Amino acid sequence: MVVDYLIIGQGICGTWLSYYLKTAGYSIIVIDESKQNSASKTAAGIINPVTGRRIVKTWMIDELLPVVHQSYTALGAALNLTAIEQKNIVDFFPTPQMKLAFNERYLKDQEYLSHPDNENYFHSSFNYDFGYGEIQPCYLINLQDILPAYRKKLQQEKALLEENFSLNDLQLSADVVQYKGISARAIIFCDGIHSFENPYFKNLPFAPNKGEVLWIEAPDLPSSHIFKKGINIVPWSKNIFWVGSSYEWEFENDQPTEEFRERTLSVLKHWLKVPFTLLDHKASARPATLERRPFVGFHPLYPSVGILNGMGTKGCSLAPYFSQQLVNLISSQLPIHPEADIKRFARVLSR
Ligand SMILES: Cc1cc2nc3c(=O)[nH]c(=O)nc-3n(C[C@H](O)[C@H](O)[C@H](O)COP(=O)(O)OP(=O)(O)OC[C@H]3O[C@@H](n4cnc5c(N)ncnc54)[C@H](O)[C@@H]3O)c2cc1C
Repeated sequence: MVVDYLIIGQGICGTWLSYYLKTAGYSIIVIDESKQNSASKTAAGIINPVTGRRIVKTWMIDELLPVVHQSYTALGAALNLTAIEQKNIVDFFPTPQMKLAFNERYLKDQEYLSHPDNENYFHSSFNYDFGYGEIQPCYLINLQDILPAYRKKLQQEKALLEENFSLNDLQLSADVVQYKGISARAIIFCDGIHSFENPYFKNLPFAPNKGEVLWIEAPDLPSSHIFKKGINIVPWSKNIFWVGSSYEWEFENDQPTEEFRERTLSVLKHWLKVPFTLLDHKASARPATLERRPFVGFHPLYPSVGILNGMGTKGCSLAPYFSQQLVNLISSQLPIHPEADIKRFARVLSR
């Protein structure tokens, strides 16, 4: 079989890259083994325009938000589902200092922040002592429906191989790659943390970060917002909420721990005034990078080997934007954003 591009991985990166390649008229095959605890299958899907204790704007958010809106709306229409929904964050201040930081930032710049009309509004569901602010607009990406629906579409188009990709079966030349009877112009790795062991890319400064999550059932909890107080409570489906997550730079494996479960349940018991039951507990490793910027482009020594990775904690907003950039590079030789282009690592990749 001859196709234009072979893509490894159908997380959020492989989904968007294959979508934009097909939209630009290229033929593709995606190979994905369907790992149950991939980052994309564990993520909440939040797009939050601000970050950190000082509530600064997240990297490139002003450019990303219009793309996010347009791309997920189009994907939702293609898959016949709601892919994106505005869900603002109610940011309960855990300390008076955090309230002060929010107010100071609000006085300087009101973009993305607002104060509620009635600070007592959520007292019937939550315990909180220092009030709250609102972060808006925030979005929730419906990954739980998008990923399987897009997978089904790939299956119907006979563009998906559900198996483990092995580098042992890959043969390369400058302008063609061969893999088990498939011939393509290039192979592009969208395989999340698995790229860390890939001999072509293992010298990139990856920094995997583990996150754990609980799912709870809480019929009396409002689903109007994402609720934040150290951790996030995110409306998932009817009466079900995603609760997380942890950020660990040092870890032995990507499995759930009793320590996280007990700590988070204890936080919930103090925070929630409504009853809840624990449904599930998962963990995954985020494909994060030391300088918190993505890895996008083609290998300097092997031009038929590409990568779209390193989305860290922000795969939902970065993946559509940088998939478009990679397709624009392929089709029109337009440059990738210099902070994301793997050209910046040409020396380490050429070792
Ligand atoms: C707990 C947690 C919460 C998060 N919350 C958010 C959030 O709210 N918002 C946000 O924007 N981001 C969030 N993230 C980050 C986000 O999940 C990642 O940035 C994003 O999912 C990375 O997508 P990816 O496609 O690069 O990798 P992955 O999702 O890991 O996908 C890689 C795919 O490649 C496949 N694969 C790998 N190797 C092979 C192989 N050899 N053969 C076949 N298939 C293979 C895997 O099966 C997988 O399907 C969160 C992450 C975690 C862990």
